Amino acid sequence: MRNNLDRLGMPNQDTKQADDAAAALMQSLSFVVPTEHVDLPSKGLFYPEGHPLYQKDTLEIRYMTAKDEDTLTSRNLLKKGIAVERLLQDLIVDKRITLDQLLIGDKNALIVAARKTAYGSEYNTKVSCPSCGKNQTYEFDLDSCNIYEGCTDEQLNEVSVIRTDKGTFIGSLPILKTPVEIRLLSGKDEQIILQRQKQAQESKNAIETLYSDQLKLMIVSINNVSDPKVLQQAIPLLPAKDSIYIRDLYKAINPTLDLSHNFVCAGCSFETRLELPFTADFFWPKR
Ligand SMILES: [Zn+2]
Repeated sequence: MRNNLDRLGMPNQDTKQADDAAAALMQSLSFVVPTEHVDLPSKGLFYPEGHPLYQKDTLEIRYMTAKDEDTLTSRNLLKKGIAVERLLQDLIVDKRITLDQLLIGDKNALIVAARKTAYGSEYNTKVSCPSCGKNQTYEFDLDSCNIYEGCTDEQLNEVSVIRTDKGTFIGSLPILKTPVEIRLLSGKDEQIILQRQKQAQESKNAIETLYSDQLKLMIVSINNVSDPKVLQQAIPLLPAKDSIYIRDLYKAINPTLDLSHNFVCAGCSFETRLELPFTADFFWPKR
């Protein structure tokens, strides 16, 4: 049977030999896929001892190749909505590290860095003005995204929040006036939240429960009660003011890449900070 190698006038080899030949070709061109160290917003401070990222402030990724572009355009993966997840996992050099374990803030830094290796830092996408609703193409500069490291211990002290040696944070609920302990969310938590949102959208009767889904994953204990069954029942009953307090606290402690940009509307000149959206243009820029 004739294969592509025959058509190229190359001898018919088995796959192993072809792989070796491809490696030799790349070597003769002195081509090594470059890697890059992505700064981790968490500085590795919230990974448990023994984790490959424990107290590490960078994560090594390799640049995207043509094969990665195949991953991004694979119909099969796209249908499952997992093309980007698969790509990011492939780019991580240390195979002991899975996306699931990465903190969401670190994962955001990884997504932005990966995109820059292939398509650069200029990101044009459609946004709609929060004031007048006008749709427009806006240019975001990925290089201007800065790391937010989370509150310092001094700042936490001022608002009576304690950082524990387990990497959790204890604050005090304003209405119930009891301690609440929260933790940072991981890539796996993010997947659980997306899954629940998807289920809610698919079933007609379900009301979306985004806020309580997030809280259920964030909250480690309330008033020292940490039994998951009790918490799952109690969390949807939290007073709104307490729920808002927890979400604000999370934002303050969460180390991440700050994705907000200055936005000036082309229609009505309204100015605001706008978070850059991860739309299809992010990994599939129009050319
Ligand atoms: Zn406007």
